[in-house]
Amino acid sequence: MATARTNFFCASCQTMRLGEKEGINHVLHLLLSIVTCGVWLIVWLLLALANSMSPFRCTQCGQAKTIFSGGKLAIFAIILLLIYAAWHTAP
Ligand SMILES: [Zn+2]
Repeated sequence: MATARTNFFCASCQTMRLGEKEGINHVLHLLLSIVTCGVWLIVWLLLALANSMSPFRCTQCGQAKTIFSGGKLAIFAIILLLIYAAWHTAP
């Protein structure tokens, strides 16, 4: 499982800290999407949405903080939907 990292202001430590959470193995989901002719894209998108809402944890004290990166996720979702549409409209 990939690990996602970001810097955030930890309310407990009262300073900028590195936050971590389990990320998504996009290579695995890409391969599954290819094998299933795009059907797995729906699962991939739902997992990415759920993961984007899960909190990062401070690596020093474990304080949780949710950082929603909606813009990045929206671009990712649009790309996935375009790939899905291209696969299912091809002759
Ligand atoms: Zn902390």
